[in-house]
Amino acid sequence: MLSPVLELFYPSLCVICQRGVDSYNTLCADCLRQLPRTEHHILRENKVEMLFSDINRPRKQWDKHRFVRGGAWLRYDDNVAKLIHAAKFFERPELAEMLGRQIAIEWLDSGFFDDIDLLVPIPIHPHRMNERGYNQSEYICRGIASVVNIPIDTTTIRRVKDTPKQSQLTDAERQKNVEHAFHIPEPVNWHKRHILLVDDVITTGATIRNCIKEITPIRSCRISVISLAVAR
Ligand SMILES: [Zn+2]
Repeated sequence: MLSPVLELFYPSLCVICQRGVDSYNTLCADCLRQLPRTEHHILRENKVEMLFSDINRPRKQWDKHRFVRGGAWLRYDDNVAKLIHAAKFFERPELAEMLGRQIAIEWLDSGFFDDIDLLVPIPIHPHRMNERGYNQSEYICRGIASVVNIPIDTTTIRRVKDTPKQSQLTDAERQKNVEHAFHIPEPVNWHKRHILLVDDVITTGATIRNCIKEITPIRSCRISVISLAVAR
């Protein structure tokens, strides 16, 4: 965010339509209203749930109800791409936080956040963290937490592989790229917990699937998934 003096020379602009906005805003009210909502919070078997539904095919008895619910707030389009790009790369963590707060406000009454014990941002590798200075998914969590009052866990799952950017890869390459990317040194932290994995964009679901692979050996840990957007 700019200081009030710099603000005189560089007024805040809406990240989508580039019209001037109040300094504490990064998105104008019109653009916020027009974002393409999916309504996944009230749609059973939505796109995100379909991506991970096979997790509940019981190999073990306790796997039956392991995946609880999932959803993405927005459909990925050009405007949403601008928004997420700004939240991720333009030192705009407060934008990610605002979007997280907005999802929570809109989805709260549906019960989507009921009985969740922990909000878990998909971790980025320490190298990426040094470059960018923040994990945008952690800021989405902060926004959600400000509404639902659920603690955020940023330490139990770690990114141990510095993966190249996913966007230029084929589906098979994406899957390969994130294999063994995550590690959970203290699985006991999540025993009997219901965790909500939080990400910015879901494309093939490969990243989250690999997180889930690390989580599945933890007995009685239930998993839900939420993202800002879903790409297909
Ligand atoms: Zn706008």
